[in-house]
Amino acid sequence: MMATTHALVGLLLAAGASAITGEGSLLVAAAGILGGVFPDLDLYAGHRKTLHFPVYGSLLAAIAVAGYVAVGGALALAVALFVLAAAVHAASDALGGGLELRPWEGTSERAVYDHFRGVWWRPRRLVRYDGAPEDVLLGVAVAIPGYLAYSGVVRTAVLAAVGVSVAYALVRKPMVALAEHLVHATPDPVLDYVPERFVRDMR
Ligand SMILES: [Zn+2]
Repeated sequence: MMATTHALVGLLLAAGASAITGEGSLLVAAAGILGGVFPDLDLYAGHRKTLHFPVYGSLLAAIAVAGYVAVGGALALAVALFVLAAAVHAASDALGGGLELRPWEGTSERAVYDHFRGVWWRPRRLVRYDGAPEDVLLGVAVAIPGYLAYSGVVRTAVLAAVGVSVAYALVRKPMVALAEHLVHATPDPVLDYVPERFVRDMR
């Protein structure tokens, strides 16, 4: 799933938590959004493994939620939301496509790494690949409660995220074709300076 979809899921969690606790601050909304995006910062270094923790993250989220219940306050809720959104991101990556250059081909069996058991979870492909039409629809669906629950800058962020999702979905497949074209058009001596994992599948 797209990072924007995960961000919107994080906001949905924040909106739900604020509705339950009455702690409806901007800090909590921001924590949900940032926690939803955070795991994908490993995009260029061990993607879906380095910062993705579906099992340990869920355990940590349970502890963080318990921490909020114990001490209360917007800051504790924000911490809990950040950890929870990151854990939901990691676990829900298993519902999407696999790690491959063209995930719509469905040849990869790696969705997200489970550090607890030391194995990769396989992709369920309910959302076939990041930027698929169903990914955009999912993002819009989860964005609606978040949009309605907030105002001002959060609403602007929701609209921006949906806009980025639509734009990304439109260029998702042409982007791979363009990258392949560029790799083929680049002389080998130049490509030798590009890290192998960026060009491996395209050569
Ligand atoms: Zn991810």
